[in-house]
Amino acid sequence: MAKVLVALDQGTTSSRAVVFSTEGQVISSWAEEFPQHYPKPGWVEHDPRDILDSQVSALKEAVRLSGVSPADIEAIGITNQRETTFLWDRKTGECVGNAIVWQCRRTSQIVDRLVKDGCGDMIREKTGLVPDAYFSGTKLKWLLDYYNLHEKAERGDLCFGTVDSFLCWNLLEGRPHVTDATNAGRTMLFNLEKQDWDDDLLKLLEISKACLPRVIDTAGPIGLLDPAILGRAIPVTAMAGDQHASLFGQACMKVGDVKNTYGTGCFMLMNTGDTPVRSRNGLLTTMAWRIGGKPTYALEGSVFMGGATIQWLRDELKMITHAAETEAIAQSVNGTGGVYLVPAFTGLGAPWWDMYSRGTLVGMTRGTGRAHIVRAALEAIAYQSADLMEAMIRDSGSAPEHLQVDGGASANGFLMQFQADISGIPVVRPRVLETTALGAALLAGLGAGVYGSLEETAAVWKQDLEFAPRMDEATRRLQLDGWHRAVERSLKWAQA
Ligand code: ADP
Repeated sequence: MAKVLVALDQGTTSSRAVVFSTEGQVISSWAEEFPQHYPKPGWVEHDPRDILDSQVSALKEAVRLSGVSPADIEAIGITNQRETTFLWDRKTGECVGNAIVWQCRRTSQIVDRLVKDGCGDMIREKTGLVPDAYFSGTKLKWLLDYYNLHEKAERGDLCFGTVDSFLCWNLLEGRPHVTDATNAGRTMLFNLEKQDWDDDLLKLLEISKACLPRVIDTAGPIGLLDPAILGRAIPVTAMAGDQHASLFGQACMKVGDVKNTYGTGCFMLMNTGDTPVRSRNGLLTTMAWRIGGKPTYALEGSVFMGGATIQWLRDELKMITHAAETEAIAQSVNGTGGVYLVPAFTGLGAPWWDMYSRGTLVGMTRGTGRAHIVRAALEAIAYQSADLMEAMIRDSGSAPEHLQVDGGASANGFLMQFQADISGIPVVRPRVLETTALGAALLAGLGAGVYGSLEETAAVWKQDLEFAPRMDEATRRLQLDGWHRAVERSLKWAQA
């Protein structure tokens, strides 16, 4: 039997495992969902036991379905939902409460205070992040404060970790307490340039270094899987946050390479090489990966309402019954007839950053119908992504050759063609749309020496379709101008 690579993809709603051939083909996959806990409004938690159990059972099932023997698994790579925070006892392994999920807003006030105290610029400068409750740092502080555990942390009796650390500690022989640089970069405690925990930030948040994991490379030997799981101590050779794994799985190895994942929200990352580019447009500076001790950086931006706009058409407006219908409906009209939908339901992110903007539908006439509105909703996903890409180009000074796409809504041909048209660059969709898992598997292959270089892993990436831009420049300008005028109408709405 040929050798295979396995990706563990620990996500927000499910834990998945995917078995890949070394040529990057999916041999088998399995996902296990687990419950979400909402103990108070705005709070989100996961039971650590559920995370472990679902991940182990997904791994076992995917391997069983593949028909490969554990002896043929060359290496395992881990990728994960980012920022979700665990704290556990170093001796017993018992967790302090549930994991605090990235979406949880319970530490908003801690962040507000930091910003009010004038620490925003320092945080931005050191971590590349816009101060927010989203990141792990204030979540860890909350756990230490709430359970009164600062002294215990100081004594080295506690371990903090994001999902990658938590899985390694629990699933690997010898319980390594480690995290990779991409995950560390999302804690708001990690100094991007020094590539290490930042003493000033630790002091600011009253966090003892003794509870932090050791920061390691994204690819390279980490340890061996506990043989009790699959009957063999298989090497684990990669760890990366999900968006970083997907950037790798999309073969975005060169400066200026950019990918966009069209899921519930959209996540766009651009490789900026060995320079951490500071954004003037509200983007985050983050790690792409760290390999052989060498950091590669990225710019990151997100669209809050991506595929979620389509869910809104389906669930609230009842205009459609399935997301996939939107493609034919949009194509049934020549254009939106001047209609723009700005889906700023929860405010707008980069490059606008206005928490008070609200959903806006403009430009309607007596002839406006359902198809125009459905089309405007799809176009809105592309316009928001186009704005993010423009911001990245302005910040980095590099212009991408194409946009690599994946995620559920990238199946929509109309949306992809409109993205190519409105961004004025080719949109490229790969054969394997599971780019996050593929990225983790390729990183694991690199870490295990299955591939000798980044170029070899990039060669595994295969194109499915390319959408070439077809819109003339004057129309493109006009349409974008209309969109920006619509965005202006939506700004600061909820403030009044
Ligand atoms: P996530 O990983 O965030 O759960 P997925 O990558 O599974 O998201 O994508 C699901 C999202 O994509 C949903 O919001 C859905 O409305 C949207 N979606 C799925 N298929 C299509 C389609 N053919 N056209 C437009 N949107 C779609």
